[in-house]
Order: sequence, then structure tokens, then C-alpha cells
Amino acid sequence: TRNTRKIQVSQVSTSFQDIGGQQTAKNELKEALEFILKPEVINRLGIRPLKGILLTGPPGTGKTLLAKAAAQYTESVFLSASGSEFVEMYAGVGAQRVRQLFQDARNLARKEGKSSAIIFIDEIEVMAGKRGSNQSHLEYDQTLNQLLVEMDGMPVHGDDVRILVMAATNRVDLLDQALMRPGRFDRLVRVDLPDREGRLSILRLHTRNKPLDANADLDTIARETFGFSGAHLESVCNEAAILAMRDNAEFITTHHLRQAVDKVMLGERMDRTLRH
Ligand code: ATP
Repeated sequence: TRNTRKIQVSQVSTSFQDIGGQQTAKNELKEALEFILKPEVINRLGIRPLKGILLTGPPGTGKTLLAKAAAQYTESVFLSASGSEFVEMYAGVGAQRVRQLFQDARNLARKEGKSSAIIFIDEIEVMAGKRGSNQSHLEYDQTLNQLLVEMDGMPVHGDDVRILVMAATNRVDLLDQALMRPGRFDRLVRVDLPDREGRLSILRLHTRNKPLDANADLDTIARETFGFSGAHLESVCNEAAILAMRDNAEFITTHHLRQAVDKVMLGERMDRTLRH
């Protein structure tokens, strides 16, 4: 049916330790999550509760992983959706989906006996672009308004399920400023491309369950992959394993990894050429 939703409910098994690098983002996020972990303290001090966190940065840097880790860290149920799922031709459908998503979060948390839910919305700029700037702006506006209504209306005290909305975008410049007002997405966490050390720890994570040659030099690979995202590095590790298989090799060597880097870099360049 037209109303079938692609909202994903997943059993979360990602922890902050499964995310390489991103130390600043992890620290900022953990600090913000105190709001969920210590509601009594927040209440007692009369602090305005945290409702939304916006993760910004290039694609493939671990924004989704961070949201999942946040859910595990706070023992919250985790629901995710993409901004594009709320864009519909028919007026009101997008807004209805937003309403349903929040209802689903409450229901799921109650069912699982959890006191909080994290809703992750990827590519939020698609549904929450500056109002009036879209072609069929009316429908977009309704959808965005509904998101703001849900966030403004979220109960902040009492026994009801606490909901934290985490949204990700790589185009923060496109967002409607109304999203960033106090009480909405008032925390912004930058998730940048990993530095050399970050790349090394991501390479370590993605080779930990692979037969890596004792002499394989991940340090060098980390040094030679400036500009790679976590997603790229994951591909490098996977490609290297495929190349080792082709060689009938028992272990993955630096040579395989280097070839894989070239392959991923080439793929990325082809991608760009095709896009432009
Ligand atoms: P997008 O903006 O494209 O949705 P994203 O920032 O949400 O990207 P993720 O979906 O979290 O990126 O990452 C994609 C994949 O890349 C992950 O499943 C993981 O395999 C790998 N990856 C990305 N960043 C990291 C990281 N910091 N540590 C380990 N793996 C990572």
C-alpha cells in the first residue's frame, strides 16, 4: 500500500567502541546523553531537557553508527528513517508519517520496557529544507511543521517515554533555521573525516575479524588514505580481502591493502565523473 513505511527498527549492537576515531564527536555526544541518563538531576536543576541533536559532516563518517551507539549507551530503543521517506506527492502523507514515527517510538519503548527512545533521521535536509524554498513547498512545509510540533510537544517530565531525535545531514546550510531553536536541535555535533590516527583505528576495527598478515602495515595505509571516510576505509578492508582470495593467499598483506586503496580511489573518481 501507499502507506507502507520504510522505518527501520533495529536491535542495536553498535557501541562507541565499534567506532574508530571521532573522539571529539563521541565525547560531545556522551556528554549530551547525560540528559537521558540522569533525568532526575536535569529535573531538579530545572535544566531544559535535550530533545534534538544534529550530526553534521560528510557522508560515510559514522553518523549513523554514532546514533546507534547512543541508543545502546542509553538503553533506548532505536528507530531510524531517512528524510526522503517523508516526501510524498500527496498532501499530508509526510506529516502523517512523522506523527506515526513518534507514536511507533513510544509504543516500541513501552513494549520493550524501556524509558527512552532514540529516533534517527538521516538526510534531514530533504524533509527540513528552508520553508518556502521547495517546488512543492506546501507538502514539505507540512511535514517539517509536524516534526516541530512533535518535538515541541514531547513530554519532558513524568513517566512517559523520553524521546531524543538525532538527525544527520551533510548540508546544514540547507536547513530551516526553525529547527535549530532552543528546545529543538540545539546541539550540533560535527562528524568530520577522520585524521591519520582515526583512519588507523578504523582500519584496525575493520580488519579485526580478518586474517591480516603479521607484517601488514596499517600505519602506512592510514598515512596514504588522506581524505578517506570510514565508509571508504571499510571498503578498502573488504576489497583487500577479495584481492587476497583471488591470489589464493592465506593472509591479507600490505600489497593487497594498497591495491584496494587504489581501487576504492578509482571507484570514487568514476562516481564523481558520472555525477557531474
Ligand atoms: P551517510 O551520511 O552516508 O548516511 P554516515 O555518516 O551515517 O553516512 P555510517 O552509515 O555511519 O555513515 O557509516 C557507513 C559505514 O562506514 C559503517 O557501517 C561502517 O562500516 C563504516 N564507518 C564509517 N565511519 C566509521 C568509523 N568512524 N568507524 C568505523 N567504521 C566506520
